[in-house]
Amino acid sequence: MRYLGTLSRAASLVALLATLAACVAPGAPAARSGKVQAVTTLPLFADFIRNVGGDRVDVTAIVPAGAGPEDYQPTPQDAIAISRADVIFYNGLGLEPAVEPMLKNQARKDAVQVTFATGMPVIKDDDSPGGNPHMWMDMRRAMVYVGRVRDTLAQVDPSGADIYKANAAAYLDKLDALDGQIEAQIKTIPEAGRKLVTYHDAFPYFAQRYGLQVVGVVLRNPGSEPSAADMADLARALKANSVQTVYVEPQFDPRLMTLMARDAGAQVRPLYSDALDEKAPTYMDMMRFNARQLVEGLGGQR
Ligand SMILES: [Zn+2]
Repeated sequence: MRYLGTLSRAASLVALLATLAACVAPGAPAARSGKVQAVTTLPLFADFIRNVGGDRVDVTAIVPAGAGPEDYQPTPQDAIAISRADVIFYNGLGLEPAVEPMLKNQARKDAVQVTFATGMPVIKDDDSPGGNPHMWMDMRRAMVYVGRVRDTLAQVDPSGADIYKANAAAYLDKLDALDGQIEAQIKTIPEAGRKLVTYHDAFPYFAQRYGLQVVGVVLRNPGSEPSAADMADLARALKANSVQTVYVEPQFDPRLMTLMARDAGAQVRPLYSDALDEKAPTYMDMMRFNARQLVEGLGGQR
């Protein structure tokens, strides 16, 4: 037994020396795990990338859990993460106004950059010049995002292409099934009740896909405060549409919406849009949560 123990210690020592030698070999690249280094903005995009990339990809999300992308100010740490990335995924359409210039300045020249929202039809509004950026709230569009992750990872790391394809196919199946469930759940809401009042304007694609109508938004422009005119518009919309429930989002202070709701005799419930948290740690969790809150808040059937 002692002989075997000594032998295995000797073997470990040889392995250790080999590792050390590799570390100090001249011309060796900077320490890397060998995995594809992916950087993205939202934690929910990181979730897409993890589902497709599995353990071949290290993913860093720049916007912290529970924060909104529109007013997030990147840190020097973010610049370092960006400078190390092999591939960078972001939404575009003005969702990440402070992060985008950093991508241009800090990313490696050979890093692949992918804008998820490019090439899909946009819903125009007065506040986002290129169109509303929140396309992932329509699960069919989120599936396009996931397809872009698959194709890009296969391009960056061709030897993993089959794995990315298989992972994406399995994940897309689940997204497709949930998309159908949500569609069916929202249909149980009486038509007159399918009206959405939210804190910021993150739900037009969701509304378009699942047959709701956005009748009011508190915050027209994230990064600024709602104006008195915005609040007056909203109060009118609540009254005109007999809205029973208004929706707050976890990354925004709920107090203003709560006051408006009290005046209008409406309930307040949460919905996820840009941010995940410990109660909804994945994209699918957040979409399931949202469907349940809408059905319960707007008179549907579970
Ligand atoms: Zn947003």
